[in-house]
Amino acid sequence: MTNKQNDLKLVCPDCQAEIKWEGELNLGDIVECQECGTEVEILSVEPLKYCELIEQK
Ligand SMILES: [Zn+2]
Repeated sequence: MTNKQNDLKLVCPDCQAEIKWEGELNLGDIVECQECGTEVEILSVEPLKYCELIEQK
């Protein structure tokens, strides 16, 4: 049994640390880098695409 979700890897665009998350990753999810707190938005799950979330104030 294979689980593709576990093969996905997120790398923080800011500090290059690997970002870990729990559960499934879905389009539009926001995950936070444990190292620097940068938030990354999931743009696409398969293939995995993501970008640093820029908060607009
Ligand atoms: Zn980071």
